[in-house]
Amino acid sequence: MADEVVIEAKGLSKAFTETVIAVEDAIFQIPKGSFISLVGPSGCGKSTLLRLIAGLIDKTDGNISVRNAEVTGPRKDIGLMFQWRTAIENVLLPNEIRGDVGPEAKQKAWDGLQLVGLKDFEFAFPRQLSGGMQQRVALARLLQTGADIMLLDEPFGALDEFTRERLNVELLRIVDDPEITTIFVTHNITEAIFLADKVFVMTPRPGRIAAMIDINLPKPRTIEMETTPEFNALIKEVRDVLSGHLDGAPL
Ligand code: ADP
Ligand code: MG
Repeated sequence: MADEVVIEAKGLSKAFTETVIAVEDAIFQIPKGSFISLVGPSGCGKSTLLRLIAGLIDKTDGNISVRNAEVTGPRKDIGLMFQWRTAIENVLLPNEIRGDVGPEAKQKAWDGLQLVGLKDFEFAFPRQLSGGMQQRVALARLLQTGADIMLLDEPFGALDEFTRERLNVELLRIVDDPEITTIFVTHNITEAIFLADKVFVMTPRPGRIAAMIDINLPKPRTIEMETTPEFNALIKEVRDVLSGHLDGAPL
């Protein structure tokens, strides 16, 4: 079914305290196979929303479900990183659990780390990697297990523009699969648009999804598209939503 909903939120809220409402009244349906970018300023609630979907924290109100089942705890397809294992060992963990660490699995893990730009970091421990690099190890592990829901929290945050562009193109190649649904958190508007079928624009205090913007740019996406009038119009659309909220005023 083309429009099968994989992730659904209804009035989803998370308040850490009475005044810190990290996510308020999120309402959305994410179709299978789509790529959603979640963009917004630091502290607006992006990570909290992702953690609610992953079942890593409890909501305070509303509903969140994945494949029609309410999220009640951590999902097995969202990997935790083990601090005492090297990058390659972390990527191979799912294979190890299944008792399948043959040469093919090892080669795949190796290729996966190269794909996410971590060649030469295979034997590094998580503490020796930046937050963004740890996210990319997690991405390599998702690829290794063939997970079909990818929740990525600013994986390319600390990269230079050139490396980021290269990895964005790689990422799209990887998730260009009707079975794979992706939510990608970033505070980079260009990156958000370049990658997505739809951009959720989030604004702070309280954390709200203020707009959902369809990105109807042709596919496959190319870096050259970033300089087209269509692309610039989309950037302006996102900016306008964000600037309308600088003072915390409602829409
Ligand atoms: P983002 O990922 O967009 O930068 P977060 O989701 O991390 O934003 O945070 C949203 C808000 O919730 C911030 O005000 C942050 O300080 C607060 N927050 C996040 N996690 C916690 C927590 N565990 N306890 C209390 N407040 C939190
Ligand atoms: Mg965050």
